[in-house]
Amino acid sequence: MITFKELSLPSKVLTNLTNLGYIHPTPIQERGIPLIIKGKDVVAKAKTGSGKTLAFALPLILKLDKEEYFPQALIIAPTRELSEQIAMECRRLAQYKKDVKIVTLYGGTSLTKQVASLEKGADILIGTPGRLLDHFSRQTIHLDKIKTLILDEADRMLDMGFADDILKLVSNLPKERQSLLFSATYPDNIDKLTKIILKNPIEIKIESKQEKIDVDEYVYSVDEKDKALVITLQHFQPSLAIIFCNTKAKTVEVSSILNKKGFDVATLNGDLEQYERQEMLLQFANGSLPILVATDLASRGLDIKDVDIVINYDIPMKSEDYTHRIGRTARANKSGVAISLCDEYGLTKLSEIQPQLKAKTINELRPNKNFYLQSSVATLCIDGGKKKKIRAGDILGTLCKDIGIENRLIGKINVYATHSYVAIDKSVISKAFNGLKNGKIKGKKLRIWWL
Ligand code: ADP
Ligand code: MG
Repeated sequence: MITFKELSLPSKVLTNLTNLGYIHPTPIQERGIPLIIKGKDVVAKAKTGSGKTLAFALPLILKLDKEEYFPQALIIAPTRELSEQIAMECRRLAQYKKDVKIVTLYGGTSLTKQVASLEKGADILIGTPGRLLDHFSRQTIHLDKIKTLILDEADRMLDMGFADDILKLVSNLPKERQSLLFSATYPDNIDKLTKIILKNPIEIKIESKQEKIDVDEYVYSVDEKDKALVITLQHFQPSLAIIFCNTKAKTVEVSSILNKKGFDVATLNGDLEQYERQEMLLQFANGSLPILVATDLASRGLDIKDVDIVINYDIPMKSEDYTHRIGRTARANKSGVAISLCDEYGLTKLSEIQPQLKAKTINELRPNKNFYLQSSVATLCIDGGKKKKIRAGDILGTLCKDIGIENRLIGKINVYATHSYVAIDKSVISKAFNGLKNGKIKGKKLRIWWL
């Protein structure tokens, strides 16, 4: 296994990678980074959770020209949540450079606010096709200086009907540019897009045996899916579980069934307001709501640490969706479990998209009837973030020193531009809430509420 040192990267980049805990490049990074640095167009195919983001983001950041005022890179992704996640990884990777401005542009958020942040200058634009095009037609983004175009999860964007939007955007980019396409799946329809957008691309396919993700897949043939779902959860007793449904309505229904049974559940679907989507995902990732019931909105790209089980409550319509759904577990060389619950229709569907999988009977599971996956932590939201110069350490300091809460009872702290969130053990949450409400963080009085 080689180290990043062997990819002849500048020492500042190496130091930053070490600080972030990245020592050995993954196979797609090892092969992709040198070619991308050279300026080649690349079509990259590598399994879910294998570090594709870093493979395209590291060279891109390396090549940013400090003197250039207009945006130099455009990253297009299928969902708002994935755009936000890519932006976060880019910010971490750009820490060694001064003042790299990364702006996310997606729907469900105020255009005015986005325009305001664009006006402060932007080096990297990251967003969903529709909103990016919207900004382009309003002339609020400038695409003449884009040197690198990246399509993450391109095949999904085609499925979602974004081909025209993408092509309109691309036709307004400079002809002299580098274009990169990344995904774990390449259905046939992608070829046409590739031919139009990329120039003599080099294909990198990582498909060796060791590249197979370490997921144990099980299929159960069941009559009553709701009952089977509870049995499955009570048998495997996961600490973080994602349940996929095919429709928004179903996610609401399944969430409410599990809630009534006593499970702590987050729901994610396109009907929610953007802030609700963010808060659901955040409460799942910080363990406050350890089950996420979602549509395929959550199937692409999302990297949530330590998801140990993925359950298909409904069988996806396409083989690619199956791959991406189960790829939410077993990321970064970890292992995981994927379960598909099939009624008669589900069995037919699954035999079309994953014919190698064989169904078993659910009777072989041994559920623990007392297991309800209830969280020991809940989340407090603080009305202040980076813009008020609040850092995670400030929140931790107030909680520990001023309010007297033990460090071990404080969970994940997330600080965003205007808000921060902290997960706190339920045994002390009232104390934390009142303490924060009546106290100050970094000398500032801030509004606090309970999610
Ligand atoms: P993909 O896009 O291939 O699905 P991601 O880019 O989301 O995968 O990365 C998956 C996880 O692996 C992330 O949590 C990321 O921080 C981690 N990761 C990426 N590269 C490395 C590396 N070289 N060493 C260790 N962890 C890595
Ligand atoms: Mg990805």
